[in-house]
Amino acid sequence: MLITLLILVVVGLGFVLLSGTSAPTARLAQPIELVGRSTPLAVELEAGRAGLRSWEIFARKPDGSETLVAEERFPRSTFLGSGVSRRSAQTTLDAKTLGLPEGTSTLVVYADDYAPLGWLRSRAPRLEIPVAVDLTPPRIEVQGGQHYVYQGGSDLVVYEVSEDAVGSGIAVGSREFPGVHPRGAPPSVRVVLYALPHDADLEAAPRVTAVDAAGNRRFVNFPVEVRRRAYPAEEILVSDSFVRTKIQPILESHEIAVPEDPVDAFLRVNREMRRSSEEQLQELNATSDPDLRITTAFRQQPGTQVGSRFAEHRTYRYNDRVVDEQTHLGYDLASVKQAPVLAAEAGTVRGVLDLGIYGNVVVLDHGLGLASLYAHLSSTSVEPGATVAAGDEIGKSGETGLAAGDHLHFSILVGGHHVDPIEWWDPKWVSLHVLEPLAEARGVPADASAATAPAADPAAAAPPAATSAPAAAP
Ligand SMILES: [Zn+2]
Repeated sequence: MLITLLILVVVGLGFVLLSGTSAPTARLAQPIELVGRSTPLAVELEAGRAGLRSWEIFARKPDGSETLVAEERFPRSTFLGSGVSRRSAQTTLDAKTLGLPEGTSTLVVYADDYAPLGWLRSRAPRLEIPVAVDLTPPRIEVQGGQHYVYQGGSDLVVYEVSEDAVGSGIAVGSREFPGVHPRGAPPSVRVVLYALPHDADLEAAPRVTAVDAAGNRRFVNFPVEVRRRAYPAEEILVSDSFVRTKIQPILESHEIAVPEDPVDAFLRVNREMRRSSEEQLQELNATSDPDLRITTAFRQQPGTQVGSRFAEHRTYRYNDRVVDEQTHLGYDLASVKQAPVLAAEAGTVRGVLDLGIYGNVVVLDHGLGLASLYAHLSSTSVEPGATVAAGDEIGKSGETGLAAGDHLHFSILVGGHHVDPIEWWDPKWVSLHVLEPLAEARGVPADASAATAPAADPAAAAPPAATSAPAAAP
C-alpha cells in the first residue's frame, strides 16, 4: 500500500517535472512605443515542455476596459499537452478600430500552458506594455503649381512634411518613389523624382504620401495632369539562324541548357533572361546618391542613328506564328563598330557587369534615383564606384547580349523604372521640370549651377528621334 502510494507520488512528480513548472513568458520581438492605424506587433512566447494552451493580446484603454486584439489556441496533441513551447504571436494594431483614444493605452499579453499544476497559478498578464496612441498622419504640403507627366515620362515634386514623418514620397499605383531632403533646404523640405511607367494605370493619378512611426499614412493629391503617349509597334521575325548564331551562344555562355525547340530556346532568353535582367537592374538601382549630379540635359551618344525607340511594342514571329511580345525599354543608337561610348551626364559608376540580355553594361547613378544604362558593350573602361564627368569614355559599343549588330542600347531609369530618354535629352525640359524646381527647393538661384555647366554638344541637344516623337515639354 505504502509502496503503491510512493510510486504514484514519484510518477506524479516526474510528470510535473517533465512537463515544466514555470509559467509561460512573453517578450517583445521589437520595441513598440507608438500605436497608430497600422502598427505591427510581435511577441515571443515561451512555455515548458507541455506547451502553450493559448495566448491573448488585449488593448487596455485609459478607463481600464480591455478589447481583444488577437488570440490563438493550441489543442492537446501529445500526452503532455500541445508540445508548442515557442510561438511568435504577430498582429497588426489599428488604434482606430480598437477604439483607443489618443494618449496612453496599455497592451496586455496573457498566455496559458498545459503544465499539470498550471491551474494553481493566477491569471496574471505575462506582459504589459504602455504605448502612446497616435492617430494623426504626418502633414504634407505640396509646393509649386501645375504638373504634367507623360506615360513613360518623369517628373519632380517638391513638398514639405511635418517632423513626425519617418518616410515619404510619391505613390504611383503600388510603386513608391522615396523623397529625399535636398542639401541646404529647410528640414521639412523633400524632393522626389518619380516615373510614370509606360505600363502604369493612367487612371490612378500619382499622389504624395507620408507615414509616421505609428504607421499612420496620409496620401494627398497635387495638381498633375497625366498625359497619354502613343508608342510605336514593331514586328520581329525570329529565324532559325538567329537562334543558332545569337540565342544559343547566350544560353551557353550563361551555362543554361539549350532547349531543342528553337522557340523554347528563344523564349528562354527573350522572356526569362529578360525578366531576370530587369530584376538585377532594379536591385542595382535600389540605392542612389541623395544629391542630383546632373547639371544639364543628358547628351545623346554623338553621331548616332536611332534604331529602336523607348516603349516600342515588339511582336515576335516564328514561321508566321506569334511566339512572344515584349516592350523595348530604351533607345538603340548605332554608328560605327566599337565606337567610343560616352557618359551622357556626370555620375558615379554603379555597376560594370554582364547583365543577361543587355550583355556587357555600365550603369551610372546620377543621384535622386536617376540612372543611365549603356548596354551591348564590346569592352568597358571604368570601375564600379568611379566618378565620371559628362562625355567621359566608359567603353566601346558592341553586340554582346541580345543584339543583332553593333549598337548602343541606352536607357534612363528613375527609381529602377525605365523612362523615356527623350525628356532627359531636352535641355528645356530638364531645366524646367527638374533643375529649376530643385534649385528653388534648396534655396539656390535656379541658374547658378546651369551657368557653370559646359555647353551641350549642339548635335546632341536635338536627338534625331525628336522630330517624330511627341514633344517632351508640355
Ligand atoms: Zn535596345
